[in-house]
This record gives sequence, structure tokens and C-alpha cells, in this order.
Amino acid sequence: MQDERGTLFSEVPESVCLLYPSPYHTGMSSLGYQTIYRSIHASGRGAERAFLPDDVDAWKQTRAPLFTYEGQRPVSSFRIVAVSVAYETEIAGLIQALELAGIPPLAADRGPRDPFILCGGPLTFSNPLPLAPFADAVLMGEADETVHQALDIIFASNSHEETLATLGREIPSCFVPTLHGDEMPPIAQCDDAKLPAYGQITTPNTELRDMFLLETSRGCSRGCRYCVMRRSTNGGMRIVPMETIFERIPDDARRVGLVGAAVSDHPKIADIVEKLVDQGREVGLSSLRPDRLNDRFVAALKRGGYKTLTTAGDGPSERVRESLQRKTREKHLVKAAELARLHGMERMKLYMMVGVPGEEDEDIDELVRFSSELSKIIPLSMGVAPFVAKRNTPLDGEPFAGMPIVEHRMDRLRRGVRGRVDVRATSARWAWIEYVLAQGGRAEGLAVLDAVHAGGKFSAWKRAFDALPATRTRRALRIVA
Ligand code: SF4
Repeated sequence: MQDERGTLFSEVPESVCLLYPSPYHTGMSSLGYQTIYRSIHASGRGAERAFLPDDVDAWKQTRAPLFTYEGQRPVSSFRIVAVSVAYETEIAGLIQALELAGIPPLAADRGPRDPFILCGGPLTFSNPLPLAPFADAVLMGEADETVHQALDIIFASNSHEETLATLGREIPSCFVPTLHGDEMPPIAQCDDAKLPAYGQITTPNTELRDMFLLETSRGCSRGCRYCVMRRSTNGGMRIVPMETIFERIPDDARRVGLVGAAVSDHPKIADIVEKLVDQGREVGLSSLRPDRLNDRFVAALKRGGYKTLTTAGDGPSERVRESLQRKTREKHLVKAAELARLHGMERMKLYMMVGVPGEEDEDIDELVRFSSELSKIIPLSMGVAPFVAKRNTPLDGEPFAGMPIVEHRMDRLRRGVRGRVDVRATSARWAWIEYVLAQGGRAEGLAVLDAVHAGGKFSAWKRAFDALPATRTRRALRIVA
């Protein structure tokens, strides 16, 4: 913490622990987490951060309770622990962090002296139901405003039952597992006046080293059928005006990270990047759509410190991308590679999926052919992840392709591009775990507890899911076998 700039301290009666269920270097790259931290302080309350330790087993050996960074207070001493959960397997991190803090992970096992566990975060846009056994309440969607409503209610209530009833009644987007069963309330959309989210703390100890983070837009106007952030979510893309963006950037921010589901779709993105570079800053963008790249934009990115042009195609062939309503075409990617080379970048990185519904071996062969061609333009790396169907998307309910198929396709791709393209693949096993949780409910959440207690290796997860009676999970497991 001594390397941080922007850390907030306060000694006020009402203080919240903000727990991130992954290690520090991941949590501090989360713009949502940082924004909630700052806005709680701005509201007159305190917020202190806690993270899952890098080495959970080593921490256990010390027998020290998990404590906060700012005040070194035990997490269990807070009345409210607010947790930001980004993706499905972080539920394991939540269980581990609560146990390290001496807090029973199951809501049903907690008593009046235990903190209230309030969850939120990106996972709530798709399927937070596996969180239900562990959370007292879950804020669905954008919590920029609802987090303050929730804190008002929790601090003012006299009993746990009263808290739950009031949260369920007063906040339409608050999921209270003991009241709502498996019925999810709608996700919240905050007032546009609350945008943009922007960072509070910069630190050298994250992947986004010493970078000031700021969102240039929220949501996306496109319609990719596998994506939770597609245009039907919260009214599509909300754009932050260029003037507002620059008002928020501190003069001494040397490195600026522009964040959003579709940063490069901002109508003034080239102007923004150029101006930042002219001010002598380095720039990073969280997403670049290949069809938005042009000479001026890529030139500005290079001047802003880009050495690798990172973009995504997702579907492995034109046919699959068409079926996904993913607008990226080969010509866009070729142009992106040519621009990257023209402006002296060292490499292009391309994100792709395999195991997409309807995909055949021939689609992988097309990717082999096409990526080999791209690698003649510029050195190419590919990050490949298995497709996982998410709730709240048109592809919800599509089966996981199965580990044998995913591994076969990954292998076909690797063999096809060997020596030409550097392929980094996400494990098919962990993608399957993500799939079971993405499509699962409370029972799958409870199985995470068993998996964590059994050591957390893949075999422990598989045993825990194997033991489930749920029909959906049985179907998923059959696909794996
Ligand atoms: S995958 Fe990207 S471009 Fe497509 S809808 Fe999602 S955020 Fe938008």
C-alpha cells in the first residue's frame, strides 16, 4: 500500500469493508471497485479495502484474520462487508476470504454479530444465483446509486430481518435470496449524470501499472449474441462527452486507461487519444474493435505507447461470426494488422473463441489459414477461450461443447499454426466449471463450497458437481464425459 497514490483514510462511525475476492493486483484493476470506494468516502462514510491473499494457504498458516489495507481492521469487525464479484469462479475466492476472516461463508450460518454480506459487481449482469447461499443481499447491475441506498438501509435497521425486508421493498434491483427465491429482480441502470466512473488509487502493483482509469462509455451498441453487454442491456451504449472525460483526468496522470465495453466505438475516440498523447501521456484502451481502426487512430495509439495492437474476432470463421452477429470480417483484421505494421508496432494480439454453437472443424481450418496470413503481415499472438453460454444473452442455455471437442479444436488450431502464431489457450476444464456456474443456481453455488473445502483442484470441482442432483448439471456433466 505504501506505493499507492490516492488512498483514502477516514475515521467516521459508519465504515464499510470493500472485499475483492481475488488478489490485490486483480482487484485494483477494477474500475467499478475503485469507483464504489471513492463514492462511499464522498458520501461521508468510510470504506476500507480487503483482498484475497496471493497465497491463501500461506496466509492460513499465519492464523492471522483477514484485515483491511487502510486501517488494518479485521474484516469481521465491520458491520457491512461489500463484495464485488466479477466472474463465476470468484465465488470460490469469496468463500476463502470469508473463512480467512472468520466469517461463516453460508448466510444461514451467520449470526447477529457477523457482518452483513452485500454483493454486487459484473457477475450480477448475467447470473448471480450461485452467490445466493453466501450473500445476504445482491445489488443487480449498476450499483453507482443503489449501493448508497443499501448502506443507508442497513446502517439504519435494527434487525437482520428488518434489513432484508426493507432492502427488498425499497430497492427494486436488490436480490434478497431469502425473500426472492430464484426470481431475479431487474438489473439497475444508474442516472447518466453519475458517469463516468473513474479511478481513485494508482499503484505500480497491478497489471495496469500506475494507470489512471476512466470510462469513456458504458454499455455497447452492438448485438453480439453471446455477450452480456450487448445493446439490449441497460439501453445500449451511453457515451461520456469528451469535455467531461478531460475534466476528470488529473494533471499529473502520466498514464491513462480508457475503460468500457466498447471504448473504440466512442465517436471522438481518435480525438481523445490524440489529445492525451499531445499532453504527454501514455494511453491504454480496454477494447479495440478492428472495424474502428484507421490510420489516424492507430498512429495516435502508437504515440501513446502501444507496442501490441490487441483486438478480437471471437468467432473462428466468417460463417460463425455471422451466426454470432459479430460484425468483424477478415478485411477488418487484415487492415488492423497492416496499420499496426505501418505504425511500427511489434505485434498484434487477437482474441478468439472455440466451441461455439454450430462450429465445425472446417471453421478452425479457416482460422488456421487466416491467422497464418495475418502472421505474414505482423507477428501474431492468439488468446483462445472456449465459448461459455451466459444468462441474459440470446445464446443462454446453449450447451458447453465438451472438453474433448474443445481440446480437439485447440489442438487442431495449435498444430495448424505451429511456428507461425503463438497460441495461448484458456483451459477447457476451467471453462467447463465457469459454464456450470454460469448456467447454474444455488446448488451449484453450494458445490463451490465443497470444491473449496476439498482443495480447489479440478478433480474437487468435478466431484462436487458430480454429486449434484440438478438436471441441468447432469446434462452438463454428460457432455464432459
Ligand atoms: S462482444 Fe463487444 S462488441 Fe459485441 S456486444 Fe459485447 S461489448 Fe459489444
